[in-house]
Amino acid sequence: MADKEQVRRALAGVTMPDGRGSLAESGALSEIVIHQGKAYFSITVPAAQVAGAEPLRKAAEEAARAVPGITSALVTLTAEAAAKPAASAAPAKPAQPGPGSQAKVQVAGIRHIIAVASGKGGVGKSTTACNLALGFAAQGLRVGVLDADIYGPSMPKLFAIHGRPTLKEGRTLNPMQGYGIKVMSIGFLVDEEAAMIWRGPMVISAIQQMLREVDWGELDILVVDMPPGTGDAQLTMAQNVPLAGAVIVSTPQDLALIDARRGVAMFRKVEVPILGIVENMSYFIAPDTGKRYDIFGNGGARAEAERQGVPFLGEIPLTMSIREKSDAGTPVVVSEPDSPHAVAYRGIAAKVWGILEGGATQRPAPRIVFDA
Ligand code: ADP
Repeated sequence: MADKEQVRRALAGVTMPDGRGSLAESGALSEIVIHQGKAYFSITVPAAQVAGAEPLRKAAEEAARAVPGITSALVTLTAEAAAKPAASAAPAKPAQPGPGSQAKVQVAGIRHIIAVASGKGGVGKSTTACNLALGFAAQGLRVGVLDADIYGPSMPKLFAIHGRPTLKEGRTLNPMQGYGIKVMSIGFLVDEEAAMIWRGPMVISAIQQMLREVDWGELDILVVDMPPGTGDAQLTMAQNVPLAGAVIVSTPQDLALIDARRGVAMFRKVEVPILGIVENMSYFIAPDTGKRYDIFGNGGARAEAERQGVPFLGEIPLTMSIREKSDAGTPVVVSEPDSPHAVAYRGIAAKVWGILEGGATQRPAPRIVFDA
């Protein structure tokens, strides 16, 4: 059995990019957790260097995996808290009702459309969207998923759906089906490379088509997996899709929270209610001992939600099985329905549905205030 010390020794061979010596000695390494041959740890880097630290993260993962007895490693980058720029927290001014709101024509037959969004990529937005949708279905709701993450569509893989949608009549497409959910993704229609070079207006029109020229039928809820980030394309989308609200996914790391704040501000600007924040990869629980490890500085998203006055929807633990089941196209809500993480996703789905339906949960529905 491999132990922490062996992993730490292996990480002594990984050098920090800024001449701070080895990763093991740099002070940037978190506690190392080993569970069933899998190693989990995080690396703290200055906020400005997070984007450039991906090779370091990969090297650390590889070094850990090379330790005999370690089968896989999950390494996350954490931004140094000191680098947190407060300026980006400024609340957005509410947008004037204008052309944006006029474009929001409801889609017949769909009761609520919600967006799942994140300030940046890689925080688990698509995984959350998929399991949240399955959580709604577990409540007996009729659910659809629209994969609007045009540059990196994940839903075909997450739902293990292959093939192409069939044409119903005229221009209308039949949605694909996975685990009882209707799914439409650009990934079913065009090659990934083709969509990569699309510009804003093409992206918007593709999304509008997937929304309005697909035979969704009667749905209680349509979950839209938004493209990550808060650029023009995302803003235009938020303006053009008749959204009942948005769920923001964030990791506990400061940098991600800054991005999450931008996400909140963007939806406020276009008067889309924030349904709440989900903290993903929140903490790690060793299944054998039940011991909880807050290796990534958990709790930030809850505090941030409070600061922003938006509901906190819940925490999803960092779990290897979430990644593995996602990769296998058998998301945990269907493949491990009794696991704590599946329970967490269903709990978030129940909360969101309660908010949408106007306080059907035990807690009163939060009042969503737009004016600063
Ligand atoms: P995004 O849509 O934000 O880019 P994804 O949903 O594609 O992110 O997730 C990025 C990676 O992280 C995927 O490999 C996914 O399986 C993994 N992942 C997401 N959430 C978790 C979690 N809670 N625990 C472990 N791995 C996760």
